Amino acid sequence: MTTTIPQNEVQNKIKEEGRELIESTQEVISEALHKLGYSKELYELLKEPLRFLTVQIPVRMDDGSVKIFTGYRSQHNDAVGPTKGGIRFHPEVNEDEVKALSMWMSLKCGIVDLPYGGGKGGIICDPRKMSIYELERLSRGYVRAISQIVGPTKDIPAPDVYTNPQIMAWMMDEYSRIQEFDSPGFITGKPLVLGGSEGRETATAQGVTICIEEAAKRKGIDLKGASVIVQGFGNAGSFLAKFMVEAGAKVVGISDALGALYDPDGLDIHSLLEKRDSFGTVTNLFTDVISNKELLEKPCDILVPAAISNQITIENAHNIKASIVVEAANGPTTLEATKILTEREILLVPDVLASAGGVSVSYFEWVQNNQGYYWSDEEVAQKLREKMVRSFDSVYQTSVNRKVNMRLAAYMVGIRKMAEASRFRGWV
Ligand code: GLU
Repeated sequence: MTTTIPQNEVQNKIKEEGRELIESTQEVISEALHKLGYSKELYELLKEPLRFLTVQIPVRMDDGSVKIFTGYRSQHNDAVGPTKGGIRFHPEVNEDEVKALSMWMSLKCGIVDLPYGGGKGGIICDPRKMSIYELERLSRGYVRAISQIVGPTKDIPAPDVYTNPQIMAWMMDEYSRIQEFDSPGFITGKPLVLGGSEGRETATAQGVTICIEEAAKRKGIDLKGASVIVQGFGNAGSFLAKFMVEAGAKVVGISDALGALYDPDGLDIHSLLEKRDSFGTVTNLFTDVISNKELLEKPCDILVPAAISNQITIENAHNIKASIVVEAANGPTTLEATKILTEREILLVPDVLASAGGVSVSYFEWVQNNQGYYWSDEEVAQKLREKMVRSFDSVYQTSVNRKVNMRLAAYMVGIRKMAEASRFRGWV
């Protein structure tokens, strides 16, 4: 017998989780500002986005009916420069989650030292159940709805969960039509032929890989032969699994939204990559599947949550076997779990640092669009490496020198520029 959970209960749970994300972000922001000696007014300014827009998007579906979708765009703080951040297409998108995600974008941009503040967008929809034509109409409708508050010098969107270069291309085309001039700098993560950057598609996974290398050095772990579990097989997780194999590590576990695979002798990542569908689903082809929850507690040296938020919690933090946890997803570890992992001397590389490779190459893409001159793959890769190594070092040193955990250290590094810029502008 299958029991169905009532719709309003599901909605309440989603809302509650969104609230928790924003409250825990506010808690660490407040602590970081306090440690840095900033005023209470600054906290009041940074605890919520400066601007938040909710839009209703009517979309003609393939069967002739019209469906109204709800979308959001959040702009956390634009003291440093235009806001920047992805657009998420997911059934569980909610206001508070989008707000928290935009705050994390501000921190990411601060950590890797980009001339941006944080933004984020989302649409409540399930792209897995929509046709390509419906997705195109939804993408264009969203751009029409938010066009007044976005733009190459205002707020620059990008891909996020379940959005991709094709969706970026439709959005860029729609924005260019509205403005009546070609605007490649309006959005990043575009296909190469439309002004995308070399290395953008693999950038998040590259950034995570560099963080793993740096963390392994600090822990005295040789990446060659080290065992790695990657939770999530989307853009970040799938490329990361590939890079780990290329670095000589043994990927012993992977997962997708439906389940997980674990083999202590190592999985055949190349064949899994070939079999995965465009949403990163592959475990449906296997019978010996375990749950995502079980996977996180399996033995390994390095654990990479690369899927969704709230995965390592007070419930399982004591059972994590890894000595390094690198957060490729946004918000996978709760604050209580962060404390437990730190007490257990597990090196935690927080999301705002580990996943900043994506926005870094998005910045390179925007710079190339603005100058109309494009860089080679090698040039992008080298610039990304420099940024990530420098940022990792600065967060790690802050954590050691100020005797704070890596998450608080990352917030302290990430908030400084935004705080100073807000002060110089006379906002606080
Ligand atoms: N969505 C990605 C993130 O969360 C990339 C954002 C961007 O490239 O602007 O970092």
